[in-house]
Amino acid sequence: MSRPINELARPSILEIKPYFPGKPIEEVERELGLTDVIKLASNENPLGPSPQAVAAIKKAAEKVNFYPDSNCFYLKENLAKHLGIDPGMLIIGNGSDELLKLIAEAFLNEGEEVICGNPSFSEYDFVTQIMAGKMIQIPLQNLTYDLRSIADRITPSTKLIFICNPNNPTGTIVTYQEVEEFMKRVPDDVLVIFDEAYYEYVTDPEFPDSLKYIHQGRRVIVLRTFSKIYGLAGLRVGYGIATPDIIDCLMRVREPFNVNSIAQAGALAGLADQVWIKQAKEVNTQGRDYLYRELTAMDLEYAPTQGNFIFINVKTDGVEVGQRMMRAGVIVRPGNIFGYPEYIRVTIGTKEQNERFIKVLRQVLTELKG
Ligand SMILES: *Cc1c(COP(=O)(O)O)cnc(C)c1O
Repeated sequence: MSRPINELARPSILEIKPYFPGKPIEEVERELGLTDVIKLASNENPLGPSPQAVAAIKKAAEKVNFYPDSNCFYLKENLAKHLGIDPGMLIIGNGSDELLKLIAEAFLNEGEEVICGNPSFSEYDFVTQIMAGKMIQIPLQNLTYDLRSIADRITPSTKLIFICNPNNPTGTIVTYQEVEEFMKRVPDDVLVIFDEAYYEYVTDPEFPDSLKYIHQGRRVIVLRTFSKIYGLAGLRVGYGIATPDIIDCLMRVREPFNVNSIAQAGALAGLADQVWIKQAKEVNTQGRDYLYRELTAMDLEYAPTQGNFIFINVKTDGVEVGQRMMRAGVIVRPGNIFGYPEYIRVTIGTKEQNERFIKVLRQVLTELKG
């Protein structure tokens, strides 16, 4: 008799909880017999990618017989110029998700501790478990990362600290001052990762300049992505910024062709179209302010957001609200998956999408609460 397959797997992978992605539009339309469904569940750019990125993607398709540039030379060069840094301080990944995994693979030994906030981005837990690290989750305070409690929890076993800023799913930020005090308390043998997937949406002047710590030579990795404001989530391109010695460690564990050629071309063209990015930010800021006004008028509380999504207290079962909204053709994320059963997370859409979201939310809450 052979042993059950679970006994052959590495024990740490059996603990991994499945990821629950936002339901795709086509799936909801198929299952519920709907048309005209809108998805406000995965923080995608409702304006889509830059038309220049789409043109570059089409052009790149003609050359897919060739392997991609393993070094992402042009993308790194242009990103470096955009950021005012040296290309040697960059690594490009198959989404920043891949970079999170590379960080754990390069630096995390079995049993070492990883700290992050809770609720926060679920990938931190995922990559920690794959490498059999020990995850320490520090509860948010007022739906915001609690950097003091995180610093208090550092031990000689701590290796990585993930700071999601703005935080997904709450949209809140830690400020320049909070990060400054925190960084004074972090020992040099601990790597701090600032996950700034929503960086380009931020409007608050208190937001920290995390690159400053890299320029100071600190063990800091900053992650950003083309998936959110650039509207290229389907291409899978993210990037990490750090000192060259850290980048070198990450490059060692990367697959040689981790970023495909179409993705490199699309990201390069998307980066060049900063007019598109500026417009996406404006639409988001206006949509955010509209939703704030409407939610306040409905007597609902929400976390102040610096991203393209809002975490809303619906004061009733968020799963039920999510299901009813889905039947009305609006996909949102229920808060129970983040440990907040009376919340929903909604992506800020176009003006029309936001108006439809509010209309449907009003209807559903009236049904449920009378
Ligand atoms: C969306 C998101 C990412 C993932 O980005 P990809 O580049 O698409 O892998 C990373 N971190 C946070 C906090 C996110 O919300």
